[in-house]
Amino acid sequence: MPNPRNHPICGVCANKLVKNGKTSAGRTRWRCKHCGSSAIQTRTDSAKKADFTSFIAWLTSTQPRGDFATSTRTFTRKIQWCWTVTPGWLRQAKSMTRSCSTAPTSTAGAC
Ligand SMILES: [Zn+2]
Repeated sequence: MPNPRNHPICGVCANKLVKNGKTSAGRTRWRCKHCGSSAIQTRTDSAKKADFTSFIAWLTSTQPRGDFATSTRTFTRKIQWCWTVTPGWLRQAKSMTRSCSTAPTSTAGAC
């Protein structure tokens, strides 16, 4: 089941996308055979995804930042934008202020 990193998956139906020519900017255009939606994958997207994965790995581990990049400073810079991302479950928890018990344990202190 080869799934190369640069082979995107449809954001609508999660099927594999197939190459469908190029955009005027020279980027590969991808198309979903299943639902017909098209997408353009940029390198920034996959790099960001990797950074965010490291960010989560670091948050949920006790390892120092330096273990996730070439240096602590590099890692701090790479994941800076991740702090501004609001996870779906957090948004949900905020909109359900009454039912604190449904929020993950990490936010239990706020209740
Ligand atoms: Zn699709």
